[in-house]
Amino acid sequence: MAAVKVFPLKCAVQHYAWGKVGLDSEVARLVSCNDSSVVIDEEKPYAELWMGAHPKGDALICDNRISQKTLGEWISKHPNGLGSKVKDILQGKLPFLFKVLSVNISLSIQAHPNKELAAKLHAQFPDRYPDKNHKPEMAIALTPFEALCGFRPVEEIIGFLTNVPEFRAVIGNEAAEILENSPGHPRQISDALKKCFTRMMNCEKKTFVDQLNMLVKRVLQEGAAGKDAAESNGELLLRLHSQFPGDVGCFVIYFLNVVNLEPGEAIFLGANEPHAYLYGDCIECMACSDNTVRAGLTPKFIDVHTLCEMLNYTPAPASEKIFPFVRDPCDPCVFMYNPPVPDFSVIKIEIPSSVEEYTISPIDSASILLVISGEALATADPSEINVCRGSVLFIAANENVDLCINSDGMLLFRACCMQ
Ligand SMILES: [Zn+2]
Repeated sequence: MAAVKVFPLKCAVQHYAWGKVGLDSEVARLVSCNDSSVVIDEEKPYAELWMGAHPKGDALICDNRISQKTLGEWISKHPNGLGSKVKDILQGKLPFLFKVLSVNISLSIQAHPNKELAAKLHAQFPDRYPDKNHKPEMAIALTPFEALCGFRPVEEIIGFLTNVPEFRAVIGNEAAEILENSPGHPRQISDALKKCFTRMMNCEKKTFVDQLNMLVKRVLQEGAAGKDAAESNGELLLRLHSQFPGDVGCFVIYFLNVVNLEPGEAIFLGANEPHAYLYGDCIECMACSDNTVRAGLTPKFIDVHTLCEMLNYTPAPASEKIFPFVRDPCDPCVFMYNPPVPDFSVIKIEIPSSVEEYTISPIDSASILLVISGEALATADPSEINVCRGSVLFIAANENVDLCINSDGMLLFRACCMQ
């Protein structure tokens, strides 16, 4: 019998408080579709599904012919299953963590260091920065998905400095005027933005709490009087303030783009890019790391100095933050999201209802496949596996999987290393 190199996984669910609750969560829906023995607690948040070998959520192998219990154990016994490049270049470990996220309450505003800074921070503060790896991330919307991402064009920020005096007060006139009078050279604009942002993050707590309370009161009064709240981004401000009252992060919405993704649209968060997920369900893929520097909307520690020094202060419109996918010229069902990092790529496979048999092509990389919709019998010698919505398969490098499809089309996401 050939060795088993394609097998189903039972993946870890993380019940973080910010997750959507009960069957409102795509994570809960996927888990319950795939396993009828799972009982969903309608009171509990289902925030993340972890599809990978991370020590805090190593996936269980559902194939009793395999002696190892978890994916991490299997990989350490079968490093060739990672593929030649991953095995040799990326230290013999699965270099990515694949996830589904269901966001109900905003996650903290954050950025992740590049490799150089990560190594330095880890050496200095190992308890705060637990490893020396970078943590690029990509989010692909499953439902309409709202996030903060990157600094807004300067004209928009200057508009808020004019229309939202409370925002101006936490930055101070001096820094605000430097930005307003900046002659437009990109370097000068970045320096001025950095100055404004740093002033805000260092603003005395009493000042920003007072200003925030004044702003919330004004937005509520203006709303009651029928005034459009767009000038002060009032709707989002009130929502974030209700989730994180008195948090300096509420003012960050005047610096960062609000990006609204439609299903299938993605954002890529490279090193030093400020971001926060606000609402919705997404697929996420990231390099294996826990290094996060926070900027607000959080009760956790904020390392203001590191944060203000590291950020990418290049302004750009929200539309430029949407990461383009590429259609595979050889396969009309395949859409590739290839970020500029070696750690991971994500492939969307959209099989139309006219197709009854489909082969998931072999690649020289271990991969993890998630079924979002559809049903099929998956054949990968020597295994036959029934897959449905919520199924997760591990596919070792260079293995192919034949699908005999029993539904009107299928939607799959596959994480792997492409470069
Ligand atoms: Zn992040």
